[in-house]
Amino acid sequence: MAESFDVTIIGTGPGGYVCAVRAAQLGMKVAVVEKWATFGGTCLNIGCIPSKALLHASEMFEEATHLFPQLGIDIAEPRLNLTAMMAHKDDTVASNTGGIEYLFKKNKITAFRGTGAIPAAGKVFVTAEDGSAQEIETRNIVIATGSVSTDLPGIEIDEDKIVTSTGALKFKKVPENLLVIGAGVIGLELGSVWARLGSKVTVVEFLDRILPGMDGEVSKQFQRMLQKQGIDFKLSTKVTGIEKTGGGLSVTLEPAQGGDAETVATDAALVSIGRKPFTEGLGLADAGVDLDDRGRVVTDAHYKTNVNGIYAIGDVVAGPMLAHKAEDEGIAVAEILAGQAGHVNYGVIPSVVYTSPEVASVGKTEEELKADGVAYKASKFPFTANGRAKAMLATQGFVKILADKQTDRVLGCHIVGKNAGEMIHEAAVLMEFGGSAEDLARTCHAHPTMSEAVREAALGANDGPIHI
Ligand code: FAD
Ligand code: NAD
Repeated sequence: MAESFDVTIIGTGPGGYVCAVRAAQLGMKVAVVEKWATFGGTCLNIGCIPSKALLHASEMFEEATHLFPQLGIDIAEPRLNLTAMMAHKDDTVASNTGGIEYLFKKNKITAFRGTGAIPAAGKVFVTAEDGSAQEIETRNIVIATGSVSTDLPGIEIDEDKIVTSTGALKFKKVPENLLVIGAGVIGLELGSVWARLGSKVTVVEFLDRILPGMDGEVSKQFQRMLQKQGIDFKLSTKVTGIEKTGGGLSVTLEPAQGGDAETVATDAALVSIGRKPFTEGLGLADAGVDLDDRGRVVTDAHYKTNVNGIYAIGDVVAGPMLAHKAEDEGIAVAEILAGQAGHVNYGVIPSVVYTSPEVASVGKTEEELKADGVAYKASKFPFTANGRAKAMLATQGFVKILADKQTDRVLGCHIVGKNAGEMIHEAAVLMEFGGSAEDLARTCHAHPTMSEAVREAALGANDGPIHI
């Protein structure tokens, strides 16, 4: 007799494991299926967590080298111990993925190891690595199989010299030159890591700007900051081929709109041109589940596919490919299955680039408001006028608040600065409650904090900031 569950979740990334925990908390009998050796998906194993471990460590290295002297701390010139830095990253991953194992046990969630396939609604087949197969009976199925790196046609990834983010998280030595293809989040985060550790980093971007989708002013100013850190940009440029030479690579570049090609030599190349949904091996055609033209599982507003009893969440469905978006969808679908009104407010999903300075954003950009024909006011406050930022030598960047011209309701907030990724949440909470710039400006902020700049930007939307 096959074991039977209320819900079986395929994939244990932030979408899948959070869904499993919430479903168990709501009294369901829950199973998860995972093909990797450890739980946590892309985010915990090869994404958010290892990249943030290296971003933090490399930022400390950079600060010890360049900031300590300015703060009056004289130390011998710091030396990089890449093996120890990678061990810190690996320990961080192990501790986080082990945490998910603990959560599954604590919540009495049954974990099946192997690749899950859906022959029909109500059934999941699990094929283990040794080929043995098992059948699960289940009232509901949640597909949470995530995404994988997008390939660049004609370019073969070896995860040694021509790498995706996965290879760029485990270079054995610092490449002298690193060519990053794609000025999106992965390219700028991992490009920053290796630039701080000593690589000469050049970023090639197809579009005429970095971080497409972010506010245009943010993107422009942030590019200048990265250039000051020694990162070069070749915008409106495409890579048309990579050849392996003696010990390195020869990369052919062309203007995006066509024109003369040039070749550049590099030791390593990072392909970071986006990610695509992953549904291989699930047998969705057998189950009759529809995909869209970009390979994403199609769902309704309640995460249900076209087949009753089969749901999908996270990177495998439409929307931003972010861990917290996947988590929130995991909670929402568990609540929906329990008969509650689970839902996600897609208008208030923060987005953070964990570089130095950080870039954080929530809600609409100026470009989006203009395109929507919304009458808005923009208010900006620079960290150069913030006391705490001065004390920390962290005056780069600004806070920008966009509010409705008539109602003063905050529609977007964009921050470039140290710890921007923490500060953005006061705007997120405000927006969740439909708050105005005046609400934020009238909220007492502790002094001296970087967050005072958020309040000053809010003040600037009406009566004017105090400190400029
Ligand atoms: P995933 O995390 O991709 O998990 C899918 C899981 O499903 C995997 O464990 C996979 O093994 C399993 N699986 C797939 N098919 C099957 C099958 N048939 N049977 C069994 N198991 C299966 N997002 C952020 O919000 N913040 C960040 O800082 C951030 N940094 C990132 C850095 C990098 C380098 C990368 C690559 C991504 C980063 N992301 C970040 C994006 C984030 O990792 C994803 O948005 C998130 O992991 C998506 O979660 P998910 O649950 O949908 O899928
Ligand atoms: P991305 O979509 O953020 O950026 C890809 C970039 O590559 C874009 O600027 C695009 O214009 C460019 N590009 C596309 N094709 C190109 C080509 N042929 N030549 C040159 N440039 C090209 O994708 P990513 O950086 O690979 O990240 C993938 C996903 O992972 C993103 O959706 C992101 O949300 C997520 N992620 C998030 C974080 C975070 O939240 N901090 C960190 C890493 C990854």
